[in-house]
Amino acid sequence: MEAIHEGGCVCGAVRFRAIGQPRRVSLCSCSWCRKRTGSLIGVSVYFDKNNVQFINAELKTHQLLSDAGRWVECQFCEHCGSALTWTLEFLPEYRGIAGGAFDAPMFIQPERYVYYQNKPEWLEINGDIRRCPLMPESPSH
Ligand SMILES: [Zn+2]
Ligand SMILES: [Zn+2]
Repeated sequence: MEAIHEGGCVCGAVRFRAIGQPRRVSLCSCSWCRKRTGSLIGVSVYFDKNNVQFINAELKTHQLLSDAGRWVECQFCEHCGSALTWTLEFLPEYRGIAGGAFDAPMFIQPERYVYYQNKPEWLEINGDIRRCPLMPESPSH
């Protein structure tokens, strides 16, 4: 049985389901992640796009450029504005999901922290998490 991870936006209009395990999990403090989350760190959970289903999805889409100069197609709930999911120019076979949007996010195990140079000084990161000052050669977005 493959794991099923469910989540949704804050108002409940959009629900999603991701099957199996993430292909990549990144923490990020680039300006795009800070702005889209309204927080100092983005938690990006990437699944194979075919393993992600959106249910009753009323998503709005906007496209912009990441700090690394690549396009990012972001989707958010048109009712409450929660930023939920995105697709990246260089990882089109993956679908990013905002880590905080999962109902039970404890399965999330970050493997890298990119734009680590923007990490808040008061925050300590423990464990086996690769720290990348900016964008590594295998970027996150
Ligand atoms: Zn919503
Ligand atoms: Zn970022």
